[in-house]
Amino acid sequence: MKKVIIAIDGYSACGKSSTAKAVANILNYSYIDTGAMYRAVTLYFLQNFVSLTNPVEIDSSLKEIDIEFRYNTKTGKSDTYLNGLNVENEIRQMTVSNSVSEVSAISAVRRFLVAQQQKMGKKKGIVMDGRDIGTVVFPEAELKIFMNADMMVRAKRRQDELLEKGDLVRLEDIIDNLKKRDLIDTSRADSPLRQANDAQVIDTTYITFEEQVEMIIEAVGEKILS
Ligand code: C5P
Repeated sequence: MKKVIIAIDGYSACGKSSTAKAVANILNYSYIDTGAMYRAVTLYFLQNFVSLTNPVEIDSSLKEIDIEFRYNTKTGKSDTYLNGLNVENEIRQMTVSNSVSEVSAISAVRRFLVAQQQKMGKKKGIVMDGRDIGTVVFPEAELKIFMNADMMVRAKRRQDELLEKGDLVRLEDIIDNLKKRDLIDTSRADSPLRQANDAQVIDTTYITFEEQVEMIIEAVGEKILS
């Protein structure tokens, strides 16, 4: 069967990752969480006190960064590894969330990660989620989805995810972080978050997770058959 590239972009915490993962499972495609890659770079920069205003330091630090995804047989999910260490939990913490959008606005960081993402999609049969997948990484993707949801729904969703990992974070702090990131992500000069002209929009405020997955699977079917 014809294999395609599915680009899923949109705002944080509107269900992109879990939906993308489920779609990839059903289709037997690989799934790449590009947000995890930006988070891993951010973690490295924080751990190594890299100055975000020093291009030389940024370039030399990027050369030291190796990011991989490895399947975890215990959880059945894939974990993010930074230089051989599992950082899946660390990259989801608020310290990283508070700096990730600033790091992601740096062009050298984007060039470094976009090149790796384009390589991962060479063989197609991939679901990639992020902010610029349908516009920059794979403008030729056969299917582009743009997801959004009401701020309160997004914040509650993120709070539940953090709670599952044992982190109790106030809703106000999450809303504050999401708003700040939305602003930086949509207004940065390099690859801002925006809906591709040919993307299908899915607002996840009032629909169930199963409905989101079904909508995408139906859209994929149309693309594969066309
Ligand atoms: O998807 P997630 O919320 O984990 O992404 C974290 C941050 O990484 C986003 O707020 C954004 O600043 C950045 N990002 C990006 N481009 C992508 C994926 C994520 O700039 N393709």
